[in-house]
Order: sequence, then structure tokens, then C-alpha cells
Amino acid sequence: MVEQPVKGEYVWFDGNIRPIDGIGIMLDTSSLHYGTTVFEGIQNYNSRIFRLGEHLDRLFHGASVLHMGSENIIFRPDGGFFTKEDITQAIEKTIVANGFTEGCYIRPIVFRGSGSMLGVNALGAPVQVAIITEIWPQYISNKPAVLSQFRRMDPRSGIAGVKAGGSYLFGTFAKDEAVEADGSEPLMLDTNGFLAEASGANIMVVLDGQICTPYNNTGILPGITRDTVMNFIAKDLGIKAREMNISLYDLISKATEAFWVGTAAEVAALMELFITIDVLQRYKESLGPKKAYQLETAIENGNGCFETRPNPVVGKKIEWYEGVLVGDPEKRDRLIKAGEDPEKTIAGLEKQKTVGGVRLQIGTKSPVTDRVAVAYRNMTRGHDEKYTNFLHRIRVGMAQENLGKSTGRMLNKNKA
Ligand code: PMP
Repeated sequence: MVEQPVKGEYVWFDGNIRPIDGIGIMLDTSSLHYGTTVFEGIQNYNSRIFRLGEHLDRLFHGASVLHMGSENIIFRPDGGFFTKEDITQAIEKTIVANGFTEGCYIRPIVFRGSGSMLGVNALGAPVQVAIITEIWPQYISNKPAVLSQFRRMDPRSGIAGVKAGGSYLFGTFAKDEAVEADGSEPLMLDTNGFLAEASGANIMVVLDGQICTPYNNTGILPGITRDTVMNFIAKDLGIKAREMNISLYDLISKATEAFWVGTAAEVAALMELFITIDVLQRYKESLGPKKAYQLETAIENGNGCFETRPNPVVGKKIEWYEGVLVGDPEKRDRLIKAGEDPEKTIAGLEKQKTVGGVRLQIGTKSPVTDRVAVAYRNMTRGHDEKYTNFLHRIRVGMAQENLGKSTGRMLNKNKA
């Protein structure tokens, strides 16, 4: 496992392998303004790609919903189209070009490029496809999850279930919030106040020995790992798995375990939850007095403890302002001219340096999570014969040959 992410030097873009730093994206790219992208997060384990077919089905379905193709094709700027086999070969080529056959995260993205006027109507802009690969460190840290003030989108909005860029707007805010409380993943609720998911993973909660997860039609992303755990791993382990509405009260007072599942997260225990005073207050107000009292009692009776956590984002801001004050008189003058008093700003930020809230322990041991994690590991690493059909073997020879025909000779020369 790497400590820092490694970026692939080459990407595939509209049919060709190209150096990543040679791609100029136009500023009137429609998707940049309106979030009209669909993308995937896929994992290559030692030249075997886990459930590639399902990831491509979800990608093409999303492209179809956003009028960028159908369930079987994605349009090309030149009037042609890409099939799933084209994108599979493109993924293989990108991995081989980067020398990432031992493992990497794969990010295909379909978006609306430049070419129509800047108005909201995206239909005139050409559909473009790119594939980026990176090697990632562990995705979810051991820090507590943080309850978010942001709710998942109402499923009635129509594009729930599609992995569209625009749907991630609040996910990124929620992630920022979690980082600001020195936590790991945000726990977002749905519009009815039940548990939904994280910014990049689905949630599973162990209640009465059963694996429980929110319904697919609550605005969550229908995760492929979620499907893997619910429909294959739980069955193999003889653990009952079901969809249900799970309240925060259930999580705090009844759950014996909780864990995240996702392509990047894999299976990661959610042992602690941090809830800031503000978010807790707002959540209680949404509940009505009886349920709010019940939750409050559950927090008190559980092993919730009040805690102040450092806010690393505010910490960085203070450092920046202090740097300006101490070492950069010119910047300081410009700040003052712009209407800001840096000393006052620092004094204000000092008050936000820590975040107060309650930290709750969700279970103390994680026997179910551990069993699921081992089964997932075995499945994705090809150790479970029953599931080798979930792994698409990268056709390295063919990819190399294809690369050789186009840009491969150049790539190899660069690498030598
Ligand atoms: N929810 C969200 C918001 C995600 O971004 C992801 C990661 N793709 C997931 C859930 C998990 O989905 P999957 O198991 O398909 O990776």
C-alpha cells in the first residue's frame, strides 16, 4: 500500500493514449460549469479488474440518463460511438501505458465538452470520454466518522442512483466538514433523516446480528460493493442481510457494529461517530421533542463523551494569515486595501480552531465486519474460486500490441 497517491502519467482521451499534462481542457467545457458528468471508480487488483461489467453498466446507464448515449453506447465527438468493449480495451491500454498492472484505481469519466454557447442547455456540447488511473493509499482512515449537516439528494430528483458529477457537490462539502472536525468520512442522512451513506461509500449496520443497509431508493448510490456484500458475501457467511430505514438512534443505541463499503473504501469499520454540537442541535430540532429526548438519553446512556477536536482547516488558514502578517508586508497592505484586517481575522479564526461535539463508540469489537472484510479480500484478490468470474483479466499482450500500434513506441522510449 502506498503512502501517497501516484498519478498515472498517461490518460486515454477520446480514443487515444496521451500524456496527462498535455490535455488542454477548454474553459467553456459545459460539464465544468454544470456538473454534467458521469464517472466510475473501479479497482484493478493485480491485472484483474473487479466487477468491471457492472461498473460499465452503471457508467453507460448514467450516460444514457444524461443523454450522452444509451445503455450500450456512448457518443463520440466525431459522430461515432464507443461500446463497452471499446472502453474495456481503453482501460486496459491506460493501465499498461502507466505500468500499473499490479494494481490501481481506474476513473473513466464521460462529460460534455466545449462547442456550444455557455448556456445551461448541454445538448449541443460534444460528449467526451477520458480514463485516468492512479494508485491510492488507504481510502478511509481510522479517525471517527462525522455526522454531516448535508442530506443526500431527494430520490425524486430523477437522477438519484446515477454516479453524476453534480450529485457530488454536497458530498464534497460533507467531506470538508468531516475533515474540519479532524474525522474521516462524513455520515450523511437522507431527506427523511435516516442514515444514507458517506461521500464515497455505502453504510452497513449490524443490528440483531443482521447486516442492515439503507434502501437503494433513498438517494444513495447503488454501490457495487454494497451489492457484493448483500447478495454474495452475507449469503456465503450465513448472515442475514436486509434493507431497512436505519435511524441515528438505531446506530447509537442498538447497533453492535457498523462499516463502510465501497470500491475504494473496500470494507472499513466505522467504530466511532463524532457529532458536532451544531449538527446535533439541528438534528434534534428536526425530530420533535419525544424522539429528541430519546436520542439525547441514548447519547448519555451510551459511552458518548464530549470532546473538542482540532480543526485542521482553520489551523492552516491561521498559519497563512500569520505568514502574511510576519513576512509579507506587501500582501498585508493589499489585504487591508481589500477591506480585511488580518489581525481581526486571526482573532476570529482562533475561536473556530476547535470543534466541540460528542464522540460515540459504535460497538467495541467488529466480528461481522472482520469476516466480511476477509471474504471481500479473498474475492477481489482471486483467492475465492467461486468468484473468479467477477474478475476481468487484463489482456496485457493485446494492450501492449495496441499501444505499440499507436503511441506505444513513444511511451516506451520515454520510460527507458
Ligand atoms: N456512495 C457514493 C456516494 C460513492 O461515491 C461510492 C463509490 N463509488 C459508493 C457509495 C460505493 O459504490 P461502489 O461500491 O460501487 O464503489
